[in-house]
Amino acid sequence: MLYRMGEAKRPVTRRMVKLRMYPTPSQASALADQGHAARALWNVLHEWYDFHAPSRWSSFKEADEAIRQGRRELAWLAVLPAQACQQVLKQYAQAWQSHLGGSRGRPRYRARSRTKLSVDVPQASALKTVRLNRKWGEVSLPLIGRVRFRYSRELPGLDRGAPEGRTTGARLVREADGWYLVFRCECIRTSPAPGSHPGPAVGIDRGVAVPLATSDRDHPYLRHGPWLQPKEAERLLRLERKVARQRRSAPPGKPVSRRQQRTCRQIAALHAREKRRRSDWQHKITTTLADRYGLIGIEKLHVAAMTASARGSAVQPGRAVAQKSGLNLAIRREGWGRLQEMLEYTSRERGGLLVPVPAANTSRRCSACGHVDARNRKSQAVFACTNPECGYGPVNADVNSAYNIETDALHAASRPNGSASSAALGSRVDGRRVPA
Ligand SMILES: [Zn+2]
Repeated sequence: MLYRMGEAKRPVTRRMVKLRMYPTPSQASALADQGHAARALWNVLHEWYDFHAPSRWSSFKEADEAIRQGRRELAWLAVLPAQACQQVLKQYAQAWQSHLGGSRGRPRYRARSRTKLSVDVPQASALKTVRLNRKWGEVSLPLIGRVRFRYSRELPGLDRGAPEGRTTGARLVREADGWYLVFRCECIRTSPAPGSHPGPAVGIDRGVAVPLATSDRDHPYLRHGPWLQPKEAERLLRLERKVARQRRSAPPGKPVSRRQQRTCRQIAALHAREKRRRSDWQHKITTTLADRYGLIGIEKLHVAAMTASARGSAVQPGRAVAQKSGLNLAIRREGWGRLQEMLEYTSRERGGLLVPVPAANTSRRCSACGHVDARNRKSQAVFACTNPECGYGPVNADVNSAYNIETDALHAASRPNGSASSAALGSRVDGRRVPA
């Protein structure tokens, strides 16, 4: 369906579509068996490679032969479909390549307790995906049978009205709250030309007190409720204390008790719920923003560097370690990096532009006169210009930053080679742009 014979190759974008599966209890336990078999196979490969000298690492083909034979002789391995076995081997080889390329750590054993179970179904044709009705779909999983899943998003190429494209395979993943089907999809790119979105420009400042502040006077703040309700947060804290207590009193060298395992599962389920709510809000808010605005300015933030520990070393201890780690947690809870990624592709699909601008001074600069002064920032929340000729403010500090980000983004977009200057272009009085 993607390429007909003789048709020129059209550009595709790859994306994942993650849908919740509802296996029956016996299907779920068979899936878990497959997941553990995949994990065990990984460990066997790792042991083999680690135990023998690397020069004795046989070729891909020999390892494949060994796995085929193993599937015939070993009951625990036979539960894992042949193609999923090959996929484990490919991933293991890939893990070493990434490690030797320097992008990842050394491959490790996959312990039962810390491994997220997953099984690959590399060929989409094996899945025989059908849609039963508006809400439910069904797939064939090798050695499992037909399993239902929730049709919460359209699958490219399968439904009328869905984006043109196809699914190329899937991965079955067990999260804390159940099994998910992650489809690998290729969509034919039919995005309008970049910059063709007729909507206005906006600047967005990402904060911790207010998740997003914008330069749009009609929608200055984009908020969300707490990811966990007070009762749920309380329960999480209680469970975390409980598992700490269980860890302290566990006899050394003994396997983890069933009670402790259960506490860990309960904690993981709460974290999964938090993650699901956050991701849901992010999807909704980025779609709204991408629909509404043609140009979106955003701060270039290096989340990884920002959330690096402030602890420092024993010789040079860091400053304000506790405050920094609290802020780190708040930043990670917001999932900024992910939000920016989502905003990038949702805007592109609609012909909009996402323009990251340097973050330097956007919070200390006056959006009306361009005066830069740390004292402009009266507090975390309030901005008031110290330039006696201007006197802009007091206004919300995040909104002032958002105005600056919009100005810088407009400037950067009109001059693709030059970065935004730190001085404001058009002066602004109380949010209205007036000629300089
Ligand atoms: Zn000013």
